[in-house]
Amino acid sequence: MKAVLIPGDGIGKEISKSVVDITKAMNLDIEWVEYQAGAEYATKTKEVFEPGLVDAIKEYKWALKGPTATPIGTGFRSVNVALRQQFATYANVRPIKSFKGINSRYEDIDLVMIRENTEDLYKGIEYMINPNMANGIKLITREASEKICRYAFDYAKNNGRKKVTAVHKANIMKYTDGLFLEAFREVAKEYPEIEPQEVIVDNMCMQLVIRPETFDVLVAPNLYGDIVSDLCAGLVGGLGFAPSGNIGDEYRIYEAVHGSAPDIAGKGIANPSALLLAFVLMLEALGKLDDANRLKAALAAVVEEGVTITPDIGGNASTEEFTAAIIRKLG
Ligand code: NAD
Repeated sequence: MKAVLIPGDGIGKEISKSVVDITKAMNLDIEWVEYQAGAEYATKTKEVFEPGLVDAIKEYKWALKGPTATPIGTGFRSVNVALRQQFATYANVRPIKSFKGINSRYEDIDLVMIRENTEDLYKGIEYMINPNMANGIKLITREASEKICRYAFDYAKNNGRKKVTAVHKANIMKYTDGLFLEAFREVAKEYPEIEPQEVIVDNMCMQLVIRPETFDVLVAPNLYGDIVSDLCAGLVGGLGFAPSGNIGDEYRIYEAVHGSAPDIAGKGIANPSALLLAFVLMLEALGKLDDANRLKAALAAVVEEGVTITPDIGGNASTEEFTAAIIRKLG
């Protein structure tokens, strides 16, 4: 099969090379079709996407994306927002799992954050009322809320999960979060085998820090989902091992949660793990479970050994050496 690879900005080229090398080493039936996007491409061409990128995703349906920065200056759109809107990837799914060998405050965390990806305050409807007053509109629809809640309950059902927690602030945001919560309650009735739970977002942050093990699948509107998912990444030691999937009815775009790391770009020391784990999510969704498990196990073994690892996790290996160590573990 063919799939689109967008290396992106900064460390994107270095970490996506790791994916390409591993695809070859595993002899996977995936041919990466590469397209440029992001700030570096825009600086050269004044466009944020290489021509043909959108058509390629339309044709191949599956994409893996490196981090992209938004070009400075007016008139440029964020690549991420543009892709989410263009391909209606309404669900952002982030598994948050402890990784042996990574320093973190908790062990055995196994959560999944499912975030609505298309509306809420991130719809970007904001304007100046006068030079000293700005207004932003929090747009929530029943349709999008039901869709994301159904996705969360289906995910729970299909992955042997027991509970779905809605994260909201409906006590204050009575209409917007109230509508989200109403949709959650309606959808929950269709899944009697899954326990529904409702937690107010501020309390949720505290509960996650005190007793993260009591949660399972979380579902949230866009803004709370964005913030709470980074909190969750912190529970397992940061963004270095955090992958995500942007899921639509037709298209799927997988990516690392971290950004383009301009401070280390070009030095050859970026950690490719998050992008590799995003690739693992893609393999799982493609039904290539053996390949997904094989790659995950090889990566986990190299990290747990702690010998050939990148500087961000306490080693002194380069991206290439780390990748080569994973390839050796693949056997
Ligand atoms: P960042 O995630 O790029 O970097 C934060 C810190 O983490 C830096 O010190 C960086 O060196 C380190 N880091 C991140 N990924 C790493 C990796 N794989 N290996 C080793 N170290 C790593 O966050 P930032 O500095 O806030 O953002 C930089 C740029 O990335 C911004 O332009 C931002 O808009 C963009 N960004 C893009 C995405 C995306 O495309 N999905 C997500 C977040 C940020």
